[in-house]
Amino acid sequence: MILFSNNGHLNEEAIALYAEGLIDPKVYETIPTDVLDHTDACFDCKQKIMNVFDIIRNDEETKVQIGLKNSLQEAGSLKAKNVFRISTVWMFAAAAVVLLIGIYSVFRAIQPASNDQLFDEYFTPYQNLLTMKGENDSLVEYALYYYDLKIWDSAIFFFKEIKEPYKDIEAIRFYQANALLAMGYPSEAEKHLLMVIATNDDRFKTQANWYLALAMIKSGKNDKAIEILRNLKYDKGIYRSKAMDLINEFE
Ligand SMILES: [Zn+2]
Repeated sequence: MILFSNNGHLNEEAIALYAEGLIDPKVYETIPTDVLDHTDACFDCKQKIMNVFDIIRNDEETKVQIGLKNSLQEAGSLKAKNVFRISTVWMFAAAAVVLLIGIYSVFRAIQPASNDQLFDEYFTPYQNLLTMKGENDSLVEYALYYYDLKIWDSAIFFFKEIKEPYKDIEAIRFYQANALLAMGYPSEAEKHLLMVIATNDDRFKTQANWYLALAMIKSGKNDKAIEILRNLKYDKGIYRSKAMDLINEFE
């Protein structure tokens, strides 16, 4: 399979393959190393991949929707074709199921919120306050562009390409961590947040602690989360009341 065009860039086949690989990890594994290497170094090709990726993804969503509609219709027509004889036994069985579902819902309602529920309730991605325009750094611009659109996988794709030393790497790490949390990768987010907290740069320190606590909750490390939240209780900023609310959920 030829994957490069005469000008040395990826050809359409390679771009399609890569874009598909971003959706399907099994396809990603089939991408030859020279294609991966070239893409790492070539912003033009990356951009083309992202364009195709956006198209395929929207297409996938449409396909899923159509598929769902078809299967619903099929189920409907099957039901119409089959005439069920509902025996008394089945009626009792159905009543029992309804009762069990009822008991289960009541049980769920009095149960404390799960970690995932807490995370969803308290996590809001930090608003992008960076104005990187005019810095002529396309990778950062692209990452934040997708960040603003809440297209997290694309944002992460570009964040990962930003190479150190980047002059505002703390900000990049912080926003990358937010995107990772939004995508449901708390351990990866944790690494970036710890690096942000470890620096002398105070801009994102409190915020990073708050998001670190949320990452811990998402990972099920409640003790660590509570420890971080207790420290945030002494913060004067907006995280104080949030932290107190969240601690109360555990007590
Ligand atoms: Zn290229």
